[in-house]
Amino acid sequence: MGTVVHVGLSSDGIDAAAATLVAIFIIGLFYVVAAPAIAFRPTSRSMEFLARHADHAGLWMSLPALVACGLVWNPKMLAVLLTAMAIELAWYVRRRRAGGRRSLYRLDDHDLAVLKRQAGGNLAVFGKRHGIRELEINANADAWRGCTKESAPCPFNLYVNRLGLNTAPCCREHLAELCRYVASQLSELNFVYWLDGGTLLGAVREDGSLLKWEDDVDLSVLLQDDASWDRLVAELGACCQRDGFSCDVFAKEGYLTISYDPPQAWPLLYERYRMRGEIRLDLFVYREADSRGSAVVERRHYKASMPETESGGYGVARDIVLPTSTITFLGEEYSCPGRPVAYLEQLYGDFRKVEYSYVDDSAAQTRRSLDVEDQASGTS
Ligand SMILES: [Zn+2]
Repeated sequence: MGTVVHVGLSSDGIDAAAATLVAIFIIGLFYVVAAPAIAFRPTSRSMEFLARHADHAGLWMSLPALVACGLVWNPKMLAVLLTAMAIELAWYVRRRRAGGRRSLYRLDDHDLAVLKRQAGGNLAVFGKRHGIRELEINANADAWRGCTKESAPCPFNLYVNRLGLNTAPCCREHLAELCRYVASQLSELNFVYWLDGGTLLGAVREDGSLLKWEDDVDLSVLLQDDASWDRLVAELGACCQRDGFSCDVFAKEGYLTISYDPPQAWPLLYERYRMRGEIRLDLFVYREADSRGSAVVERRHYKASMPETESGGYGVARDIVLPTSTITFLGEEYSCPGRPVAYLEQLYGDFRKVEYSYVDDSAAQTRRSLDVEDQASGTS
């Protein structure tokens, strides 16, 4: 809005035409940038199309930019359009370069079985239809051109949440590395932390593995006061900066996110949100409190079915979490709530029952039927 006003106002008066053209251009660019996030859920065909071509769709905006310059001459408008197109060009070049830095992974039997089932048999057609560029089909073994620290992550908002695939082997590896990294930093900084949410669920229900369709890591940390929040943000933020992880702070909601991709300078800082998924860890903050006469640990942001507390937060009885215990997860020891089963029951009720939390119902159904068959053949 500020940009539109800036372009529209000049010492000679108001240039309504330039302001209108810039407004139209910015709205168009907004949809190009937001399409991958909007397409987290099924959306219109045009939005799906923009999301699929997110790497270079921004460059298509050079045509309307040229038309605008042909219609109206306004130096401020020209500067805005040129800056926007320079950022789009930088994004395109970075994505092209990142696409080349991939390493080959083997898909295990279960990954392949899920992929084939969701594909309805024909992997090549399925891969082409959904633009699964990582999938390499050959006579010997089907392989996955996996993401690395230098490349963009696999677009698993699409693969996992919509197509109902297992999390890719590369992304699983990076989620594990991120979990290990943040937990070890929290221990070294003397914070009490525990595995939370789907991560704890994997540790307890899936014998210490990630859920097959995991798309983030959940850790929680106990803080005493505002000073310890400030210390957490400053010290963990410094570690992430030093070790090449992005750290975002959401002070009002009381959490931080740490992402696997390296920290970027402005204006590339926000480009991460243009990818269809990221390797991310959510670190939520809990504090000790009294709620209706009982000791609880509570957080500000809701989580699954965690009960509301007197202060308007969400929490569980203190003795379910503290003192924390340890659990084996991905082959290593992690801190977990003192009574992990009771904790999971507060979060999910009957947590042993698998919930197919895909965005797409048909993907969930196909996936459910595969698991039912697996169970039947396992018990027969
Ligand atoms: Zn990946």
